[in-house]
Amino acid sequence: MKHRQTGVLLALLAGIAQLSVMEPAVAQAASASKATSVKVSPVAPRKEQVQAIVTEAYNKFKNETRGKNADYIPELAKVDSKLFGIAVVSTDNESIAVGDTKTAFSIQSIAKVFSLALAMEEQGPEKVFAKIGSEPTGRAFNSPVAVVDMPTHTGNPLVNAGAIATVSLISAKTPAEKWNKVLGFYSRVAGEKLTIIDAVYKSEAATNTGNKALSYLLAKYDRIYADPFESVDVYTKECSVGVNAIQLARMGATLANHGVNPATGERVVKDENIPEILSTMMMAGLYDGSGGWSWHVGMPAKSGVGGGIVAVAPGKGAIAVFAPPLDEAGNSVKAQEVIQYVANKLDYNIYSPASVGLK
Ligand code: GLN
Repeated sequence: MKHRQTGVLLALLAGIAQLSVMEPAVAQAASASKATSVKVSPVAPRKEQVQAIVTEAYNKFKNETRGKNADYIPELAKVDSKLFGIAVVSTDNESIAVGDTKTAFSIQSIAKVFSLALAMEEQGPEKVFAKIGSEPTGRAFNSPVAVVDMPTHTGNPLVNAGAIATVSLISAKTPAEKWNKVLGFYSRVAGEKLTIIDAVYKSEAATNTGNKALSYLLAKYDRIYADPFESVDVYTKECSVGVNAIQLARMGATLANHGVNPATGERVVKDENIPEILSTMMMAGLYDGSGGWSWHVGMPAKSGVGGGIVAVAPGKGAIAVFAPPLDEAGNSVKAQEVIQYVANKLDYNIYSPASVGLK
């Protein structure tokens, strides 16, 4: 015991000695950054720059009329197609919001990213890779043909079949316990308590025969790891969670910040899991539009049929756009245009010379 106390005392003295030899400017900066505890990202563009480009993008694309609301979930057809909001949250927790950024919309498929993160927290990346895989399907997100054709059957965690199988991997004694765990996790990633949009849940639960069919197909191949219909129900609930653009951008910023929520400071996702999550988003985040997206934009992203897209600039932050009308692949038309524009102007493309320090 005495020994340990001496050790602590010595360590303390060593620390004091080190402080006293610090350059005065360094010591001052260290204490200033402690006082404000603001972490400044070395790579994120400045707030004024982002504000100007985001406003420019908003004005440039606000009159875009192409695309159509999803209507296979009846409740989504009722959402005002003119709603349009853009939010950026940086890893320093600066946030910018233009347009309808306080309107809650259903997160839909974007939820799949965070269920993947939760399954990886529990099982580790290799087990998730073995049980789900991460290959592009080259087909629509709800394709039963992909389940039959793909060697893994599950495809990847961001198509419906793979996402339902991912949910089935999350441990819990009952479906209610699993749901609470999932919603609690999403809320920690968002840094705010999230809730379900009940009307969307009811609407999808009443019409999701296709997803139920996928779950039974997976069972045929032994690629679902809990009761199929219970897994579909938790999956349907996760898709019905309401977020606004700011909350969604913060969820993306938690990934950009290597798993630490920039607003709460809480580590929510293990940092070693972030590369696999982001690579899956790059490969399949926009379904069969992912190759073109990667080519033109170069940001790991995820879309949802509720009209949201979130795109991540690792180390810098995330941009989320909400605009309901979708293209053929099920991706918001305006959101894709806005993110491409902003990514080009602010060097968010992860492969750009500036992003890798060559400019
Ligand atoms: N809940 C939707 C579905 O299962 C999610 C699809 C999506 O956003 N692409 O069909």
